[in-house]
Amino acid sequence: MRDEVPVGAVVARGEEILAVASNERETIQDPTAHAELLALRRAASKLGGWRLTGCTLYSTLEPCPMCAGAAHAARISRLVYAAPDPKAGYAGSLYNIPQDSRLNHIIPTTRGVLHDEASELLRTFFKERRQAL
Ligand SMILES: [Zn+2]
Repeated sequence: MRDEVPVGAVVARGEEILAVASNERETIQDPTAHAELLALRRAASKLGGWRLTGCTLYSTLEPCPMCAGAAHAARISRLVYAAPDPKAGYAGSLYNIPQDSRLNHIIPTTRGVLHDEASELLRTFFKERRQAL
C-alpha cells in the first residue's frame, strides 16, 4: 500500500478529461504534490496554456489553501468536491477562496458529490494507518 493520503483530482472540459492525478506527496517527497495541484498543472500542460477557463476541477477532498489558490490562479470555471476537510479546507470549511468576492475571480462550487464514498475512503486509510503504527 502506498502511504499517500488517498486524494484524487480530475480536470475536465465538458466531457473531455484533460488530467487525472492523485496525491503524490510521499512518493516524490514534494510538499506541493497534492492531487488538485498536479491535475491543474497537467491540464495546463495539455492545453498549452495556464488559463483553465471553461474547465472544472473535481476533487475527492475539499482543496487546501494552496490548491484552492491554484484553482483561482488557473481561472478554473467550476470546482466540485466530495468530502469537506474541517482541518485544512479552504473552499468552504475554514475559509472560502472560491467565493471571496474581493478576489478577481469567483469559482462556482458544488460540495458533497459522492461525499459518503470519499469520506469512507479517507476514514479507512487513516484507520489502517493508525493500526499499522
Ligand atoms: Zn492541496
